[in-house]
Amino acid sequence: MEKELISIIVPCYNEQEVLPLFREEILRVTDGMSDKYPHLEFEFLFINDGSRDATLDILRDYSQDDGRFRYISFSRNFGKEAGMLAGLEHSKGDYAVILDADLQHPPEFIPQMYEYILSGAYDCTTTKRTSRKGEPKLLSFFSKSFYKVINKISQTRIEESTSDFRFMTRQMVDAILSMQEYNRFSKGIFSWVGFRTKYIEYENVERAAGKSTWNFWKLLKYAFDGIIAFSTAPLVFSVILAILLFIAAVILLIFAIAVASAFLGVLCAVCFVGGLQLFCTGVLGQYLAKTYMEVKKRPKYIIAEDEEIYKKRKDR
Ligand code: UDP
Ligand code: MG
Repeated sequence: MEKELISIIVPCYNEQEVLPLFREEILRVTDGMSDKYPHLEFEFLFINDGSRDATLDILRDYSQDDGRFRYISFSRNFGKEAGMLAGLEHSKGDYAVILDADLQHPPEFIPQMYEYILSGAYDCTTTKRTSRKGEPKLLSFFSKSFYKVINKISQTRIEESTSDFRFMTRQMVDAILSMQEYNRFSKGIFSWVGFRTKYIEYENVERAAGKSTWNFWKLLKYAFDGIIAFSTAPLVFSVILAILLFIAAVILLIFAIAVASAFLGVLCAVCFVGGLQLFCTGVLGQYLAKTYMEVKKRPKYIIAEDEEIYKKRKDR
């Protein structure tokens, strides 16, 4: 049977504590798969997203020990979206799997994910959390509301509670890579490209070690970026609001004239018109800011080192 390569892509930001655990677990799972399907081969592609700890040293060691371990090291922190993109762009596999380093995306699902695709019924397998155990209540609430809002206003349906843990065919990877936008919102991109997707449900697990780099504000920004990237509804919303405010201003003005208070009337009008203009400018500004970033065509990440560069430097 012809060989098939599976690329395992792992974005890493300050993951020194968890990497040894991850390596052990991923090797256990992939060795098991190779036993069952001897035609399968693996490459492990880590993206060091500007970590400040020993992540890079660990990745260097891994790539020295085992030729299947590769890495890309960014010149600074570019964010997980950039990490996933770099991983997909540099993967060579017939299939690509993206998963977190912290074992919150249990590698033991990978064989099952592969089998769904092997069956021919699907092009992609992903996971869906059935519980948000271990997550702050308020965060769950905001997260749920985010999916409600984005699915109301965007044509691209984004499944709630799906994670970035995905097994995809090369065709789907190439489709994703054909979307070269700067403001990347992967959850939206995965869904926009289509393909038959199988959702596997699983219980949320806590991080194996280290700590999450997300906080409330980062997640809020992520949510807004997602909405702006996949919907222009806020533009329509601002227009509707503007009309409503305009009507309210007119009524207030009539009222002010009725009680013969010129001051009240002027004040109301000034407030409303001022607020209204600021609001519309704000929304427009958001889109303009995004367009500005797209137009610049800046690189989405910068590579400072990979295993080949390191090897050359070391051998000299
Ligand atoms: N990550 C990254 N760049 C960042 C932040 C996170 O590559 O700027 C990686 C991180 O190493 C991990 C994954 O993205 O493998 C998910 O991050 P984390 O566990 O902090 O997020 P959470 O699981 O809390 O959503
Ligand atoms: Mg995590």
